[in-house]
Amino acid sequence: MPEYPYDARSGFSLRLRLMLATLETQAGTYALVLSARGSALIRVGRLGRLQLQSGFYVYVGSALGSGGVRARLRHHWEPSIRPHWHIDYLRRHTSPEEVWYCHDPLSREHQWARYLGTQPGVSIPLAGFGASDCHCKSHLYFFRSRPSKHAFVRSLRASGERHPQVRLLRLKQISASQLMQRPTLE
Ligand SMILES: [Zn+2]
Repeated sequence: MPEYPYDARSGFSLRLRLMLATLETQAGTYALVLSARGSALIRVGRLGRLQLQSGFYVYVGSALGSGGVRARLRHHWEPSIRPHWHIDYLRRHTSPEEVWYCHDPLSREHQWARYLGTQPGVSIPLAGFGASDCHCKSHLYFFRSRPSKHAFVRSLRASGERHPQVRLLRLKQISASQLMQRPTLE
């Protein structure tokens, strides 16, 4: 039995409607959690090669342009035919699991990258990934077991800096077409 009522017409459960309704077209920062199985050697543009491992990759970015976080997530949803960003190369070999995000006009991606790099069991799969225009070691991190949003948020909070709420959307539960819609809540 579903935990929440399911609306067959829209294809959304109430829980999903609530979650998707919080995903706005506003600017924000996000961490995309991808799962990988296997051991392919992936070329990442001109940066180099990444030896894929079974586990979880977390990529940090910010979406400050039009369409905000929702549009960016749509981009990550469909594996790119012509990869542009480093993440596009990795995305083709992985599945989206979760996204952690906040809505905020201020880009927090470098701050998030820094705190992700302090999480237990973390490693950097390819130095400079997603970090061509900044001084971060990487915007991509690898974990053998599923990383915890709660632990990540705890470390953000422990810094004492003010930070908007970080939400979690489980991507396994939704389809690409559901992601395109913004459900109404009435
Ligand atoms: Zn950075």
